[in-house]
Amino acid sequence: MTVAASTTFDVELERAAAAVRGLRRDASVLLVCHVNPDGDALGSMLGFALGLRQLGFTNVVATFPEPFEVAPVFSFLPGQELLVSPSDAPAAPELGVSFDAASVNRLGELAPALRASGDWIVLDHHASNPGFGGVQLIDPTAASTSVVAARLLDALGVKLDRQIATNLYTALTTDTGSFRHDLTTAEVHRLAARLVDAGARPAEVALRVFDSRPFAALGLLGAVLGRAEVDPAAAAGAGLVTAYATPDDLTRYGQTPQVLESFIDILRTTEEADVACLLKPVAPDRWGVSLRSRGATDVSAVAVALGGGGHRLAAGFTGYGSAAEVLAAVRVRLG
Ligand code: MN
Repeated sequence: MTVAASTTFDVELERAAAAVRGLRRDASVLLVCHVNPDGDALGSMLGFALGLRQLGFTNVVATFPEPFEVAPVFSFLPGQELLVSPSDAPAAPELGVSFDAASVNRLGELAPALRASGDWIVLDHHASNPGFGGVQLIDPTAASTSVVAARLLDALGVKLDRQIATNLYTALTTDTGSFRHDLTTAEVHRLAARLVDAGARPAEVALRVFDSRPFAALGLLGAVLGRAEVDPAAAAGAGLVTAYATPDDLTRYGQTPQVLESFIDILRTTEEADVACLLKPVAPDRWGVSLRSRGATDVSAVAVALGGGGHRLAAGFTGYGSAAEVLAAVRVRLG
C-alpha cells in the first residue's frame, strides 16, 4: 500500500466519522449489505448497526436485497432485530451505509435509497470496486469489510461488546477462511484478539459456521465432487479443477443453494490445479460461479471480464448458458 493510498483512506475515514457525528440521534439511517449476504456482509453490517445503537442512534435499520432470508448458518448473529425487509427500507434516509458490495448492482433494489440518502458511506475491501457512493471507505488490502468497519467504529469511539465482537469476528473468520487466506495480516490477528477480549467465542463461531451441516448435505457434496474434473494444462499450465451442482441435486438432497457456498473450499485443495471453479445453479441456464486461486492466478481479472468481481485469489460472476458453456468461457479467459 502506498503512502498516498493510506492518506486517502484516512481522509475518507475522517469524512465518514464526521458524517455520522453530524447526525441527530433520531436521524434515519439505512444500512445495506450485498445480495445473498455472506458472513462478512452480514457480520459487518450487524456489528456496525449495534455500534450505532450504542452511540444512541434510535432510527437505524439494516437490510439487503431479495431474497430477504438470512442463511440458517448465520441465525446466531446478534442484532437481527434491526433487520427490515427491503420493501420497508426508507426511500431517502439521512445516512446510507453499504457493506461489502463490490459494485452497485450487488445492492439490487436498495441502490436508489442509498443514492437518495443525505450521505452514502461505502465500506468495502474488494480490489475490483470501481468507486461509487459518497464517502468511499475502501481498502483492498483489508482481509474483510469488518476490518474497515472496525476502523470506523474505533474512530467513532464505539466500545466493542460481545454482540458487536461476535458479528465482526464471524465476518473476519469467514472472509479469511479461518485465518488461512493471503490477506491474513498481523492487523487481522490483532483485531481478532481484541474481538475475543470483547467476548467473541472462536470455537462456538467455528462450530456453527464451518463445522455444522445436515447429513443430506454430505450426499450433495458427494454428487458435486463426483463431477469434479481436473485439467493440469489449463490456466496457462497452472491447472484448473471444475465441478458443478444442478438444480436437480438440490431437490434430490433437499438442500438450499447456500449449502454449496463452502464446497469451493474443498475443490480448491486440489494440488494439481491452481484455479478452482464451481458452478452453483441460480435459475435455468444461470449460475453463480465461484473462482479461487492457490496463488498464481488473478481470478478477479477473469471474473471482471465475465461481468463479476472479487479479489485476486477469490472472485465470482454470474454465468449464463449450459454448465459446459460457462466453463468453456472460464477456460478461454484463463488462457
Ligand atoms: Mn468481504
